[in-house]
Amino acid sequence: MTKEEQLAVFKKIVSINSVNDNEGEVADYIASLFKPYEGDDVKIEHVAYSQGRDNLVVTIGHGDRVLGFSGHEDTVAPGDLSLWDTDPFHPVVKDGKLYGRGACDMKSGLAAIVVAALEILEKGEQLPGKIKLLLTVGEELGNMGAAQLTKLGYADDLDGLMVAEPNDDLHKITYACKGVIDYHVTSFGKAAHSSTPEKGFNAIDPLLEFANEAKAALAKFDHADPILGKLTHVITKINAGEQINSLAEKAQLAGNIRNVPEYPNDMIYDTLNDIVEKLNQQPGVHLVIKYTFPESPMGGDPNSPLLKLAQQVAHDQFGIDAEPVTSTGANDGQEFTQSKKEFTSIEMGPGTDTAHQPNEYCNLDAYYQAIEFYQAFAKAFLSVK
Ligand SMILES: [Zn+2]
Repeated sequence: MTKEEQLAVFKKIVSINSVNDNEGEVADYIASLFKPYEGDDVKIEHVAYSQGRDNLVVTIGHGDRVLGFSGHEDTVAPGDLSLWDTDPFHPVVKDGKLYGRGACDMKSGLAAIVVAALEILEKGEQLPGKIKLLLTVGEELGNMGAAQLTKLGYADDLDGLMVAEPNDDLHKITYACKGVIDYHVTSFGKAAHSSTPEKGFNAIDPLLEFANEAKAALAKFDHADPILGKLTHVITKINAGEQINSLAEKAQLAGNIRNVPEYPNDMIYDTLNDIVEKLNQQPGVHLVIKYTFPESPMGGDPNSPLLKLAQQVAHDQFGIDAEPVTSTGANDGQEFTQSKKEFTSIEMGPGTDTAHQPNEYCNLDAYYQAIEFYQAFAKAFLSVK
């Protein structure tokens, strides 16, 4: 492909509005690019998550060794449009950068893995194994597509995974991530005039007890992971009460936990559920807890063969010495690595630090480099015996 053609794929993907929805249009466009090659060597699968929201899986080549490339098709919302210099869904190139929503996170990486695969096909190269593109829905709001594909077994044959999320224009490699748990607690009470509290039940009281106990219990999970550091817990939302002279009928709080492998999600659920159960024994108390966006922590090794190979390829090709780093955020790799087979997942891609911001951009040089890098990495990985 010419550079113009490579750029056209990136621009087209950015121009499709896929803010937490509508990934189907992205999937259709990408599928259309592979369509001319469909057959024995190229398998294209749409996996619907819901109406208009398709994951796309493209498998290329033959052989036992399988390298996954993953990218998410959704983006976050553009936010306040007055803070943008351009239309977020009308990509604009200026000073070697492409601007638009998702230009960094992560339609640059998505386009780069797609173009890399197309170039391998265009050149008619026979790979000593398979490449599998796992393109997902709903990453930003909970890795839903990756969770769905993992449950359906799409990651069960992987020997390694490259997640094309922005990592300082290929200068960093994320190899371990904290887990994420969002929880929501609702306390139900009975309204009454505050001058006669005995006639009702104030929903706020048990909620405060829960907050204090949860903070104390989770503070005990204080061992620092050697690479990820400590678990963090923050109560981020409280809503309660209608009026100063009425007992609150309902009180709610929400919190966010970022955990490490020593304290897996189940251990945290047990801890918080126990507090709720215990408080519910008290007369009048009715607490309900719910969890959203749970993601397991993913430990990792800065010296894994997959990471070392990525470093080697980036060094040999571009003289880039990519630095292994860890992350407090979640990505699709944390879902895919819960598959039946054990494999390593790393994150490396074009884009710097403009994710989720107005005037999000990607340096085009990094985008073009990524296309070359992913091809060289795939060949190097699949050639390993
Ligand atoms: Zn992302």
